[in-house]
Amino acid sequence: MTEPAVTPLEPLTEQWQRALAVVAHPDDLEFGVAAAVARWTGQGKQVVYCLVTSGEAGIDGLAPEQARRVREQEQRASAALVGVDTVEFLGLPDGILEYGVPLRRALAEVVRRHRPEIVITNNFRDTWDGAYALNQADHIATGRATLDAARDAGNRWIFPEQLTDGVQRWDGVREVWAAGSPQATHGVDVTATFAQGVESLRAHSAYLAGLGDGGFDAEEFLEGFARPIGTRLGVRYGSAFEVFRCSSGSPVVILLGTSGATWRASTSDGFRLAVKMSRYGVRLPQQRPGRRGDRRRGRLRRPVPPGRTSGEPRSGGVTRPPRIGAGRCHLTASSGRDPAAWCP
Ligand SMILES: [Zn+2]
Repeated sequence: MTEPAVTPLEPLTEQWQRALAVVAHPDDLEFGVAAAVARWTGQGKQVVYCLVTSGEAGIDGLAPEQARRVREQEQRASAALVGVDTVEFLGLPDGILEYGVPLRRALAEVVRRHRPEIVITNNFRDTWDGAYALNQADHIATGRATLDAARDAGNRWIFPEQLTDGVQRWDGVREVWAAGSPQATHGVDVTATFAQGVESLRAHSAYLAGLGDGGFDAEEFLEGFARPIGTRLGVRYGSAFEVFRCSSGSPVVILLGTSGATWRASTSDGFRLAVKMSRYGVRLPQQRPGRRGDRRRGRLRRPVPPGRTSGEPRSGGVTRPPRIGAGRCHLTASSGRDPAAWCP
C-alpha cells in the first residue's frame, strides 16, 4: 500500500509587527494557535487577543455568570503564558452569535483601535475536516465577520461614528489568517514553542475539567494536530492557517514620471493617486517631493531615498515592475493605467 500524498504548506510571512487575534470563545486560540503566538511574541512582535464572548455558556455544571468570571480569568492567564498582555472581551452572548452588521461593526472598531497588520481568527468553514466534523455556529459567525471587519475598518464611510477621539480608519491589514481551516495553505513551525502552547491550553483548567470524564490530555490532543501539520511543513510540529490577502494594506513603491522621485504609500493610496492622475491629469509631486500640499493631496508617507529601487518608467507608458517579495510590488506609472491590477 502506498502512503497518501502529503500536501506541503507554505510558510507564513513573519514580516510584520502587530497582530490581532479575534475568536468567539476563551480556549479557541489555545486549541492550536497559542504555540504560534508564543513564537511570534518571542520574536518581539505584539499580539492582542479579542474574545467576542466570555464563553459563559461553555461549562454545563456552572451558571453563566460564574462561568464568565472563571473563563475570563483563565483566558488572561493563558494569554500571559504565550506573551500576550492585552486581552479584550466584547461581552456578546455565547452560543448565539449572529453574523451580520452589528458584529462587523463591533469588530471593525477593534481593528481600528489596534491597527494590526495581520488578523488571526478561527476556521469559519462549515466543517473542520472538509467532510463531517461540523464547525460551531459562533466560530463561523466570528470568522466571517472578522474577515469583513478587516476591510470595513479601512473605509471611512463604513461605521463613521467610530472615527472620533483619535480613532481613525485603518487599511493596514495585509492578511487574515483562519486557524485550523480544512483549506489551510500556510503554516508555521511551532516546534520550539509547542510546550508553551500546551501550558496555555492547560490554563483553561475549569473548562477542561468539564469536558467528558475529565481525562483530557492537552499535550496528546495538541500533538495529534501539530505533528501532521509539521510533516506538511517539514518540521516536527506546526500550526496551519488559511490565508486571505487584503490588498489594500500591501506596501508599494511608486515611481512618478521620469524625475526619479520615489514615494512609499499603501496600495489603496497608490491606487487613489493613480486614479487622480488619469482622471484629472494631476501632475504628481516629482519636482518638489515632500511639499506639504503634495503629501496631503496624495496621502503620501515618507519618501524613499532615490536609488533605493530599480527600474525606470518608459516614457509615455507603464512598465510592469518586478515583484520584490511577498505582499510588495513596484508600481511604475507615467500614464493612467490601473495599477491595482498589478498588486498581489
Ligand atoms: Zn469555540
